[in-house]
Amino acid sequence: MSKGDNNMEFTAEVNRLLQILTHSIYSNKEVFLRELISNASDACDKLRYISISQSDVAIDDLKIKITVDSNKKTISISDNGIGMTRDEMIENLGTIARSGTKTFIENMSKDDDTTSQIGQFGIGFYSAFIVSKDVTVLSKKFDSDEVHLWRSDGTGTYSVQKITDKNISGTEITIKLAKDAHEFADKQSVQDIVKKYSDNINFPIYLAENSAIDDEQINTAGAIWAKPKAEITAEQYQEHYSLLSRNFDQPLSTIHYKAEGRFEYDVLLYVPTARPFDLFDQQRKAKLKLYVKKVLISDDTDIIPPYLRFISGVIDSADIPLTVSREILQENQVVLSIKKAIKNRIISTLNKLAKDDNEKFNTFWEAFGPVIKEGIYEDYEKKDDLLKLIRFRSSRAKDEYRSLEQYIDDMKPNQKSIYFITAEDYQSALANPLLEGYVARGVEIIILTDPIDSFWTATGIKFKDKDLKHVSHGTEELTNVPVTQKPKKKNSKAKITDSDLKKLAAEMIRILGDHVSDVKINSSLIDSPVCISIGESGYDKTMQKILQERQGMSLSKPVLEINPNHDVVIKLNDMFKSKETKNINTTAHILLDYALIMDGEKPTNIEDFGKNMQVLIGKFN
Ligand code: ADP
Ligand code: MG
Repeated sequence: MSKGDNNMEFTAEVNRLLQILTHSIYSNKEVFLRELISNASDACDKLRYISISQSDVAIDDLKIKITVDSNKKTISISDNGIGMTRDEMIENLGTIARSGTKTFIENMSKDDDTTSQIGQFGIGFYSAFIVSKDVTVLSKKFDSDEVHLWRSDGTGTYSVQKITDKNISGTEITIKLAKDAHEFADKQSVQDIVKKYSDNINFPIYLAENSAIDDEQINTAGAIWAKPKAEITAEQYQEHYSLLSRNFDQPLSTIHYKAEGRFEYDVLLYVPTARPFDLFDQQRKAKLKLYVKKVLISDDTDIIPPYLRFISGVIDSADIPLTVSREILQENQVVLSIKKAIKNRIISTLNKLAKDDNEKFNTFWEAFGPVIKEGIYEDYEKKDDLLKLIRFRSSRAKDEYRSLEQYIDDMKPNQKSIYFITAEDYQSALANPLLEGYVARGVEIIILTDPIDSFWTATGIKFKDKDLKHVSHGTEELTNVPVTQKPKKKNSKAKITDSDLKKLAAEMIRILGDHVSDVKINSSLIDSPVCISIGESGYDKTMQKILQERQGMSLSKPVLEINPNHDVVIKLNDMFKSKETKNINTTAHILLDYALIMDGEKPTNIEDFGKNMQVLIGKFN
């Protein structure tokens, strides 16, 4: 929307972000400098790429210059990179294009606490408003003669106008520092910050004071990935990691090697320690920069698969043609070969970490486990390796992480399969009566509480020839495993004959009608009279609900399983035999509702449930 010729309004999202930025107090204001230097470096990368892929574009030495003025209290960051046209300024500095930043703003409104962490996320250009109420951007696109001036005080509007009395190459951002940010007009402070965050920037950064000409280069400007490992300090890796990932955590693992073989390339990848806030953003990709002999050719490739999207890093290969278009890049033989090798390397590194350092690996698993699980159904080829990485809690202990390998080692004699249950949380999984038969036999049950667990477990998983089965599907084969634990409560000796059981089940189906899809006998139940199982479809509740939402599939009715040895069921059978129609009706409904509640669901009909309970309580008098 335009107001007059030059005044424009920011989009609502930008305004929200600006409000957050200008109204909060940050412990690390200095991140604005990291963001602006990173943009200057991107601009230089883009121009370098153009100059190499288009022979008619000649360029000067690309560089970034920071000028501080301690009298006027200003700082400016300029680069001779690609520059922006008027339209690009409006598009890039008036809206928010980055999905990560969008997600961040959405999260902000839900949870005020994130304000304190704002510096942890790359907020991009707008972070200039953390330290200022007056920001100007002067820019000229490399192939144009027109210079434009963008200006804003960060309160809703900005202006863009054509300037004729200045000639520049690239972009110059000038910030009039707010009172509480005067330290950024000091040469030494700025130098320290650049060292801290931007030493690895690939272009020289010069620093000058009060427009002096005698500026000096303050960064190392080396391509860290091309250096031998022995020459790189932990701090340099750390800084490079922060630069790429825009996060402040430490890399949990650093993968740095030179691949030699059919193709040669340098690889430097980082596995983070902490989960980035946008990990589950639909558009989130790995933060991977692809270079050809230190020239950035793309930072948006599909080289790293989505289920490893937490990785950040650099790949540099002399074997990729520089002039290849970004679309064709994805099909390039070298890129395809790198893609496969990198994936294998990341997964083998994770498997090695799991073997060598259990504690570190568990940290990784806490943060990225749900994402790795996506790989199990997305990447058939790597499924077995990914299954080795899976960690879970089990019926053995709440606080212990177990692996499938450990599970198999501890299987009971005659135990055929690996058993799991999905639930909202650990406690409600344990409360599920379906577990009783397993617990009584000392058989371990894997407890899965991530929403994604309903997906990968439904894809017919085998690990070392053992089927992974939902506890609903293991009750029959379970009878071959001896019971080792005594039931909490002794049931009466009375038994229902098989033919009576069949009749009872049929009668319950008749009574419960539409509310159940089947009533089955489950002899592995111990202390509970009834339970709900997931039926033959193999889809658990979560999966069924998702399929219902996405594909309009109708939810299948629950399967009610009854314990033929339980007193309550024996009593029910007696009622049936002596034709106490009313009593058997009430009891059957209460049993179904009880089973649903134990399964974490609601009774079929709250009102009827209430009435039935009253009838039942009435019987005590
Ligand atoms: P990001 O860098 O993640 O794209 P920013 O908010 O930092 O997000 O920047 C938004 C956009 O503004 C950039 O993508 C770029 O197109 C443009 N931009 C910012 N700074 C410069 C610059 N110094 N030179 C050229 N373009 C720039
Ligand atoms: Mg940026």
